[in-house]
Amino acid sequence: CGIFAYLNYNAPRERRYILGVLLNGLRRLEYRGYDSSGIAVDGDLPAASAPAPYAGAAPLVYRQEGKIENLVRSVYSEIDEKDVSLDSAFNVHAGIAHTRWATHGVPHPRNSHPQSSGPGDEFLVVHNGIITNYEVLKETLIRHGFTFESDTDTEVIPKLAKFVFDQAHDGEGDVTFSQVVNEVMRQLEGAYALIFKSPHYPNELIACKRGSTLILGVNELSDQNSGKSFHDVKALTTNGKPKELFFSSDLCAIVEHTKNYLAIEDNEIVHIKDGSVSILKFDQDKEKPASVQRALSV
Ligand code: GLU
Repeated sequence: CGIFAYLNYNAPRERRYILGVLLNGLRRLEYRGYDSSGIAVDGDLPAASAPAPYAGAAPLVYRQEGKIENLVRSVYSEIDEKDVSLDSAFNVHAGIAHTRWATHGVPHPRNSHPQSSGPGDEFLVVHNGIITNYEVLKETLIRHGFTFESDTDTEVIPKLAKFVFDQAHDGEGDVTFSQVVNEVMRQLEGAYALIFKSPHYPNELIACKRGSTLILGVNELSDQNSGKSFHDVKALTTNGKPKELFFSSDLCAIVEHTKNYLAIEDNEIVHIKDGSVSILKFDQDKEKPASVQRALSV
């Protein structure tokens, strides 16, 4: 399958443009999988008088069976029906997208990605690959009260993320997005490239991988840094001022946007936050919140 994500900084973009970039990315990746597809973008922030249950705007999620053009049609007709504005401008926006080649579960909108943690879409995940231990994770999560809606192996991932997040909040308090993802990775077996989006961490994206390919593209670092070669990007991304960032399963969806790109390595967790990119190593021995440890070992 193909996964794709887009994040912009210091370059306000309208929803129309953001949708265009995501859907175009999927068109480029369609050859990798074409039985279904989906995207998630940000909704508008509610009025201050009616705050959302979490820090960011509720995500808008669109999923469809069949070719990308089916998704394109359904996105624009739903947007029209629900009166969502294509003109809303975002200074920072984190969108994710997926074109699926089903391994677990028939092609169907409910099996399309992004897969969700449940009501409110607190964690959304696009996944390329297979989670081999999903059955045992699913049983554990069901015991902890989760209800599954799809037949995919992927659905355990956003639900695990919510579980880790909730446990941390019930226990020691705050947990960063990368701590959540490190903990999720510790539970997963199989091959995967993943991108996570969450309204608990608005304007942040996390990607990680083990096995499957994933590329990070960084646009307009600065005049002096632009056009650097592949190997320099890693050093640049931590200090540079990226304007737009992309994740993609394949370079073919990135080259039209930027020449600065980097292949993510296995066990790397790429955290984009506040305009900077941190590349962390998955830490198997990282101390986990005691509450999470207890709950997962049940
Ligand atoms: N195993 C996942 C599924 O069947 C992802 C498949 C893919 O890589 O497209 O939903």
